[in-house]
Amino acid sequence: MPSIPNLRINSDRLWDSLMEMAEIGGTPAGGCNRQALTPEDARGRALFKRWCEEAGCVVSVDELGSMFARRAGTDEHLPPVMIGSHLDTQPTGGKFDGVLGVLAALEVMRVLKESGVRTRRPIELVNWTNEEGCRFAPAMLASGVFAGALTVEKALAATDSAGKKFGDELKAMGLDCSAPVGGRKVAAFVELHIEQGPILEAEGFDIGFVAVGQGHRWYDVIYTGFGSHAGSTPMPARRDAMAGAVAMIARVHAIGRAHGPAGVATVGEMQVAPNSRNIIPAEVRFTIDIRHPDGPTLDRMDAEVRAAFAACRDAARLEGGLVDVSFNPPVPFDPGVLDVIRAETQALGLRGRDIVSGAGHDSFHMAKVCPTAMIFVPCKDGISHNEAEDITREWAQGGADVLLQTALELADRP
Ligand SMILES: [Zn+2]
Repeated sequence: MPSIPNLRINSDRLWDSLMEMAEIGGTPAGGCNRQALTPEDARGRALFKRWCEEAGCVVSVDELGSMFARRAGTDEHLPPVMIGSHLDTQPTGGKFDGVLGVLAALEVMRVLKESGVRTRRPIELVNWTNEEGCRFAPAMLASGVFAGALTVEKALAATDSAGKKFGDELKAMGLDCSAPVGGRKVAAFVELHIEQGPILEAEGFDIGFVAVGQGHRWYDVIYTGFGSHAGSTPMPARRDAMAGAVAMIARVHAIGRAHGPAGVATVGEMQVAPNSRNIIPAEVRFTIDIRHPDGPTLDRMDAEVRAAFAACRDAARLEGGLVDVSFNPPVPFDPGVLDVIRAETQALGLRGRDIVSGAGHDSFHMAKVCPTAMIFVPCKDGISHNEAEDITREWAQGGADVLLQTALELADRP
């Protein structure tokens, strides 16, 4: 337990800050469009920087624009405890995805300043650049470089759909991006985030202990047959790419159901060629996304997808290919940090349960370089990546209090 168990965040101030940040890029439907490295992002960052400095922090920005607001510890030789998330949003995003984790961490800094608390370790509040990935692929770009998953050069060269370069757009924001990316020790990373799913609210929990981040595999499928007249080609004579595709899609869904509820499988995109009402499809392309929190089970799902692909191809007498697009194994979070989060949740009188993260987060990368865990709070009806995304003040307060106490406990450890 930290030395000041009665310390609490200021829930009204946290809520006001969330609402003020949401005005930057605010959409008519009540959501937020503050995509990475846009003028809206620049305005959000300027406000965030001012708030951090008012909270007594020293702000530095790394070569990819990630912002670190540091509060000194009594032993500056020790690596810092890091807390935070991301301020960028989807084009039709909500007010809370990422933003809650950043502004709750800011509220931690404000409370520590007001109460004059000194922690042994420094605490750093981070706003990661380009978490969402909607403007520059891949998602979680800057934290990925911080953790060594890709290079600074590769990140700076990423382009958006208009051909604009990450590096040029970052430069245009006029930040002093002089800090090196990563390459330093971090004692622990804790990220507070909305669940983006319906479980906590439905079951009446205040807090989710994210024990594992789901693993995923993405594939592109191409089935090639022969395009001919839809009226005059007898059924047995056809090589119909759609026949293979619909059989395969049904198999993909069945694989998801067979490994559910933890397993999921999705076909989300499809192109048909020549895409004519009266031509038998010559080629069908579609995507497959499978996810599971358990590595060996994800491997079994992968083997089933590959077998089904070949079986459906051969049954319809097609050619084609199954292309691996990406693979991320499940990410187990740190049991020691999770124990702290569980204990602080209980001490605060809140109800928590273990939960899997179905979405990707900056924490997935940070788990490779330091003890990392996530704290989830409910969101209404599980809706996220949507302008209707919503939470209650109580959920925000509960999550921020757990973050405060967890950060205090971790920052006082030798
Ligand atoms: Zn997020």
